[in-house]
Amino acid sequence: CGIAGVYGNPEAANHAYLSLYAFQHRGQESAGITACFPGGSFSSHKGRGLVSEVFDQEKLNQLKGTIAIGHNRYSTSGKAILENAQPFDIEYHRGRLSLAHNGNLVNSHLLRRELEAMGAIFRTTNDSEVLLHLIARSRHEDFIETLRSVFMTVRGAYSIVMTDGERLYGIRDPLGIRPLILGELEEGLVLVSESCALDLMGATFIREVNPGELIVIDGKGFQSIPLLPVTERSAFCIFEFVYFARPDSFQFGNYVHNVRKEFGRTLAREAPVDADVVIPVPDSGIVPTLGFSQESGIPFEMGLIRNHYVGRTFIEPKQSIRHFGVKIKLNPVKSLLEGKRVVVIDDSIVRGTTSRKIVKMIRDAGAKEVHMRIAAPPTICPCFYGVDTPTRSELIASNHDLEQICTYITADSLSYLSHEGMFTAAGGDRNTFCSACFDGNYPIPFDSPEAGTT
Ligand code: 5GP
Ligand code: SF4
Ligand code: MG
Repeated sequence: CGIAGVYGNPEAANHAYLSLYAFQHRGQESAGITACFPGGSFSSHKGRGLVSEVFDQEKLNQLKGTIAIGHNRYSTSGKAILENAQPFDIEYHRGRLSLAHNGNLVNSHLLRRELEAMGAIFRTTNDSEVLLHLIARSRHEDFIETLRSVFMTVRGAYSIVMTDGERLYGIRDPLGIRPLILGELEEGLVLVSESCALDLMGATFIREVNPGELIVIDGKGFQSIPLLPVTERSAFCIFEFVYFARPDSFQFGNYVHNVRKEFGRTLAREAPVDADVVIPVPDSGIVPTLGFSQESGIPFEMGLIRNHYVGRTFIEPKQSIRHFGVKIKLNPVKSLLEGKRVVVIDDSIVRGTTSRKIVKMIRDAGAKEVHMRIAAPPTICPCFYGVDTPTRSELIASNHDLEQICTYITADSLSYLSHEGMFTAAGGDRNTFCSACFDGNYPIPFDSPEAGTT
């Protein structure tokens, strides 16, 4: 998901809207914005679909105030229904609260069961709702102490923006799994999932929110409060560098573009191949392919063209004209591939079905050899921290070796980036990043049966 919080700007909702637009790639299922003036009432609009489908000028004009919270949703926990769209707005004994969450809580099932046994009524199937119940039930007088006790109780990945109608709060989990960035507008302060949103808003980057840190923003500026105990290790999601984040964003101390390109350079050194041309699977393969090409000297070509207008509304034709596979999304440029030894680069192989179709497509276009290179290690485990990966049984690399995968996708050769290569290119090691989907080293253990079996 993508989250945004804006404080102290007369066009707060408009700035939240721009942020959601900038990180639309982080979630296309629903979008929502809640806005208010300090002390005033909330106005909110949420809907299913893309930011451009959910909001128009009229809807935005209704979101009045100098504080706003925004959220783009891609469901990993809870169904794709409107009730699960965020921000979540509530009224409770302390007043009002609006909250938006990116990440996944691993003990939310257990907490939810306990709360339900005590009489709590849940309105959504989303893991984030337990946070509201826990905040509302806390016995602490002080709101900061309330937050501390609540976030000591929940475990998992969370970057959160929240407002009580007076202040804006930003929280990052003690391992810093999901990103959260603090920026400054000409008027006011902002918290966003990705720095590309700052560029679009015309805001300047202040810094990343630290793991376990609470940022409190009010009329006087921002205050940093160490909320949760942290250890030496962090667990920044390395998949953000591999795929999730936009290349023009800065996070975990690096530019995504630079890291992704370094993945490609490293791959070229680790798994060289004699070839005439190297091509990306667009869009995710483009940046590592640049690095691979520069390191190997093999010319970069756009051998596959992507149709950017294929969306959820695409109508699958009848059986008679079926069998077009990935052709609706990708089409080869024959003149670049005919008679050539081709290296094709993608960020990951998940089930293997798409890669298989891509290899066939390149061969059908006349390529003499097709060598697949993956700019990350094999995806062998599901993510329980907020990225939607299929179950272990569906992940081809979890139950097949390299040779079997190569045979399945019908490539002449197949290589992945090494774990060490990935960490080094990303500027850290196993104690800096979460890499559980690539090595099964989950930085947060599960005690919920549901969380462990997905
Ligand atoms: P939710 O709690 O809303 O069910 O889960 C949302 C989480 O899914 C987000 O926090 C985010 O980390 C992850 N996510 C958001 N967008 C995408 C996407 O486009 N693809 C994948 N694989 N995961 C996403
Ligand atoms: Fe990111 Fe993978 Fe860890 Fe999930 S398991 S947080 S996708 S590195
Ligand atoms: Mg891709």
